[in-house]
Amino acid sequence: MSSSTPPSNDPFAIPADTLGMDPATMRRLGHKVVDMVVDRLERRNTEAVITTGKADDLTARLGGPVPDAPSDPDAALDLLAEVALTNMQHGDHPRYFARVPGPAAFAATLGDWLGTGFNTICASWGGGSGPAVVETTVCAWVAEMLGLPARTEGVLLSGGSMANFTGFCVARSEIGAGVAYLTDQTHASLPRNLRQMGLSSEQIRILPSDDALRMSAETLAHAIAEDIAAGRRPMMVVATAGSTNTGATDPLDAIADICAAHDIWMHVDGAYGAPAAITDRGRATLSGLERADSVVLDPHKWFFQPYDLGLCLVTRPGALERCFSMNPEYLRDVQAISGEVNYGNRSLELSRRSRALKLWMSLRTHGAQAFRDAVLRGIELAEFTEDHLRRTPSRWEIITPAQLGIVCFAHRGSDAADHAARAARVSASGFATLSSTMLKDRSALRLCTINPLTTEDDITRTLEMLAAPN
Ligand SMILES: *Cc1c(COP(=O)(O)O)cnc(C)c1O
Repeated sequence: MSSSTPPSNDPFAIPADTLGMDPATMRRLGHKVVDMVVDRLERRNTEAVITTGKADDLTARLGGPVPDAPSDPDAALDLLAEVALTNMQHGDHPRYFARVPGPAAFAATLGDWLGTGFNTICASWGGGSGPAVVETTVCAWVAEMLGLPARTEGVLLSGGSMANFTGFCVARSEIGAGVAYLTDQTHASLPRNLRQMGLSSEQIRILPSDDALRMSAETLAHAIAEDIAAGRRPMMVVATAGSTNTGATDPLDAIADICAAHDIWMHVDGAYGAPAAITDRGRATLSGLERADSVVLDPHKWFFQPYDLGLCLVTRPGALERCFSMNPEYLRDVQAISGEVNYGNRSLELSRRSRALKLWMSLRTHGAQAFRDAVLRGIELAEFTEDHLRRTPSRWEIITPAQLGIVCFAHRGSDAADHAARAARVSASGFATLSSTMLKDRSALRLCTINPLTTEDDITRTLEMLAAPN
């Protein structure tokens, strides 16, 4: 770096690149980053699954005053890797069973790196036609893999929260303001979205789930009738395909019938579970998904993408643009005919990086069958876990059976505090991590087994550890 170049009187002189690096340094540091990442992947089975630091310690090493002078980038990278990036959950560790794992495919990481390196933008057609076609392509690929209609359109977002929010906005723009129906098992970010959209508490109806923790079609029909009688307009039913708690799926076909009868938007939150539909077994469980008006999934969960990546798919052509376009008169027909999508007109994000490159790269590299096999493996690992637990009924009780990669169970004689303590003890050991949860008034332990690199031995050893007295 040539910060000592004397000022020049030549108006055409190339300014010193004070925020750049020379090519040899860029290559050396870039290769170093690749080595750091691959070294970590090679030792991921042996690192602690989760480490949570203390704010004071972390701030002492990473914070401090604004660094006014330059410093050594090698040392800065080492500090990030050693301090910032070790104090976190490693969702791709084969014994990460908590909340929802993040078993990312390296091919996807490569796509993401390339996009960042090229400073890719995907906002307008004119400024990003190549990335736009990659996004249109992956939306179509995923829609087809899930069995959604060919007319389906989509947009990539940061995750399930923003993708659900986007779907909700489209629902309101197509149907008009009204009541949304959820259950007590709907992900907590969804009522938050609806509140921030300005829905009143009367317009956010949280229905009690049935004994299997699913939406009851009967309860739904009743609530809709009640609202219509009271002069309220039903706007949208929010069904869940694979709840985060238990993997339970609402009765999508029955819900689709009700929505069709009353011209209500059917939104499916499949942030966790929708990827199961790419397998034959998951497709059967999620029957009716193809009838939804909007479907959300989180490719950074069960579609093997690094954070962050959410996807909102809408089966009514043009509905995304009708909701979000800043220049509606210009846009409509052009795009339908030519496929020239301005992705800045499909959500609240305008300047946005291309999140599609990673998905494209991983699907192109491994092919859809590898994704199907990996998803099926997650479904089967939860079933293995359930079978294993059922072999010792004196110790374990199944609370909810294996559903789409999640099983919930209780340790006999344990209450909520004891379950939490068992989960915390296992996590603190660094060997594995899992969650405890409340299902209505039952406390439970929960394993989410969607990492295809998890072995049966990983599961039995984790359960053994969990069974040991606190
Ligand atoms: C994870 C999840 C969300 C929220 O998604 P983020 O990617 O964390 O924003 C919403 N709904 C369900 C069912 C989820 O599992």
